[in-house]
This record gives sequence, structure tokens and C-alpha cells, in this order.
Amino acid sequence: MDTFYTGTSEGSHRAGWHFLQLPGPTNIPQRILNATAVPAIDHRGEDFAELALGLFDGVRKVFKTRGEVFMFPSSGTGAWEAAIVNTLSPGDGVLMFDSGQFSYLWIEMAKRFGLNVDVVDTNWRCGPDPEMIATKLADDKSHDIKAVMVVHNETSTGVTARIEEIRAAMNSANHPALLFVDTISSLGCMDYRHDEWGVDVSIGGSQKGLMLPPGLSFNAVSEKAVEASKTAKMPRCYWDWQWMRENNATGFFPYTPAIQLLYGLRESISMLGEEGLENVFKRHHRLGTIARAAVEAWGLDTVCENPKEHSNSVTAVLVPAGHDADAFRKIVLEKFNMALGGGLNRYAGKIFRIGHMGHCNDLMLASSLTGVEAGLSDAGIPHISGGARVGQSLMASGNTDSKAA
Ligand code: PLP
Repeated sequence: MDTFYTGTSEGSHRAGWHFLQLPGPTNIPQRILNATAVPAIDHRGEDFAELALGLFDGVRKVFKTRGEVFMFPSSGTGAWEAAIVNTLSPGDGVLMFDSGQFSYLWIEMAKRFGLNVDVVDTNWRCGPDPEMIATKLADDKSHDIKAVMVVHNETSTGVTARIEEIRAAMNSANHPALLFVDTISSLGCMDYRHDEWGVDVSIGGSQKGLMLPPGLSFNAVSEKAVEASKTAKMPRCYWDWQWMRENNATGFFPYTPAIQLLYGLRESISMLGEEGLENVFKRHHRLGTIARAAVEAWGLDTVCENPKEHSNSVTAVLVPAGHDADAFRKIVLEKFNMALGGGLNRYAGKIFRIGHMGHCNDLMLASSLTGVEAGLSDAGIPHISGGARVGQSLMASGNTDSKAA
């Protein structure tokens, strides 16, 4: 029969939309796609300066800071590097927790820069322990530790660190170390307060809660971090805050900026403001609560062990021993056109991750939970059926607060 009637095996068309339920990159709303679909303009001209100068205030609001924010044309990893090279010197001590794949990668980066990293191992099921930070800092009488570096939302495990408690622990030890926080998968999803929580360098990225394509990253910096940058001896050029500052003052960048992404960022900030940032957090809280209720009803475990540390932007689910989480994800992708996050490093093949961050609402999550449940059955992964329905009931009752983490 004519392939017009039977379809072609080469044909890539699949009806309906692709469910991108990854914990980043996330779904990009049409408004942002449209905003980025503009011709390049002169990045040393007045129109560009007007665009750029208009962005800094909005980005400050997202980080909840009155201080400086630097924007780099890079993925989030670049902003990790920027935080290190602007404030530290080779041989400086830093305290870090190996609590997930991104924490681990940041530790590896710190080592490559010649930092003396005190690594606290964890079981990758909990966030950094504030009490341990207090003890470590109290023991460091000579103040060798120059920075405590933590990931706010460990995307690989669905564990959210208690930054406010970590700050309080640092204060209780009366130690001058800087606090660096990776907000790459929490910014624009969960409450985050750079100034109030006394964070010295917050690291952000564009492709998660900000709903943008990958390619923009941020450093929000405190005055203390700026002071540290004046004496820090790490070589720096591309990431140099001072070079950025001099150019940013008039709305420019030291090199070719990611023009289209900056137009997208303007739209993203408008959208967050239209919904209201606190409502954005409430929506993520609701989505996280619903996802966890479904997982519990399936009789499965989240990677996160501490109810106080559940992430509201990503839920990482352990599959029972002897079952292959990647084979399950393959079925879900092929059969239902849905991409779920996989397990990284020590969790490879052992977990799947449901992203519910950024441009995501109740029905998108409901569909995703339905697809997960059907996939669990198809893959022969032992579970109790009905988790997706439990999630739906919670949506209907709107009673997610009583189930709050
Ligand atoms: N930190 C966290 C928490 C992340 O989730 C990621 C990426 O997913 C990174 C850092 C690395 O960012 P990028 O891949 O944008 O360089």
C-alpha cells in the first residue's frame, strides 16, 4: 500500500506533543520562544544597552538581592567557575558535601583549581548537614576554610538543602567563610533569598525555573564576595567580575553577549512577575507534593530520605532492586513520547527523575504521572496501581498543604 497510508519508518512525526519531564532543560513557553526569535542587533548600540540595563533589576528580584548580579553567556558550570576564580586563591580551603552528581562535579572542579577541598561524604539521600558545618567551622580555628560551597537543589537526587539553617550554623560558629550556593535548579522554583540568607555568591542557570534555553548563567554576589575578589589570586579573564562590571555599567558586556537569550530573559522575568514569584513557588510546592503522593501510593521510595528536604522541582524515584530504571524510561519514551530524567553516576539505572519545574502545571503533571504508571506496568516494575489517581485527587481537592514537606 502507498506509504502515505501506512506511514514511513523514516518519518519522525509523532502526534501530540513531546512530554519533556526532565529536571532541565525544561519546557520553553511559546512566549519565550517568540521573544528569542529576533534578528541580532548591534551589541554595542543603544538598543542593546537599553535591553541589558533593563534586565539587571529583574534578575535581582528573582535572586532577592539588592547587590550586583553578573550574567554570563554560558551554561551553569561556567557560573560555578566564575564563583571560584573571582573569590579564591589556589590552596584555599573549602568545605563541600558530596551529596549528588552536581555537588560531586563542583567538588571535582574545585580540586582542579587547586583548592584544598574538605569533602564530606554522604549517602546521596540527604542534603548538607548544618550541624556538621557548624562543627567543622568551629574546629577551624585558623580560618583555613575560605568558603562553604553547597548545591541548593541537588537535581540528581531531588534533595533540597536547608540554606537558611546552613547560614545560621555558619553564624553560630562565628566563622568568616564565604557561602556559595548553586541555585541552578531552584531559582524560579523555590523560595530563595540571597540577601536575607546571607549568601555570598549565588550561582544560577537559564534552562530550568527561568524557562529559557540553556546558555545563560548568573552570579549574584554580596559585598563580602566583592571584597574577597579584590585580593583573590586565581587567574581569571572570561569570568572576571571587574571586567563585567566596567562594561555592564553602561549596558554592555566585555564580549559578544547572548543577545537572543537576553530578549528571552526579559520575557521570562515578565512572566514570573505576572504570575507573581511567590505564586510560582506555591505552584512548584503543589506539583512536588502531588508527585510525591503518587510515588508513595505506588509503594515506591523517593531518593530523598528527609521529609524536610524534599525538592519541589524534581522527584527522584528508586526502582526496586533488580529492575532497570533505564529500560523503563526507554519504554516511556517510545510508547508515550515522554522524556524522564535518568539516574546519574551511582544511581545510573537505579532511579528515574520526574521534572516538574518551570513551565509546568497540574495537568501536565497528571499526564506525566499517568505515563509513568503505565510505563511501570509495561516494564514489569513492581508497584501498587493507582498512584496517578491519588495525584489527581490531590489536585482536585487542592489540599496539598496538609501533605506539605
Ligand atoms: N548544578 C545543578 C544543580 C544542575 O542541575 C546542573 C545541571 O543540570 C548544573 C549545576 C550544571 O549546569 P550546566 O549543565 O548548565 O552547566
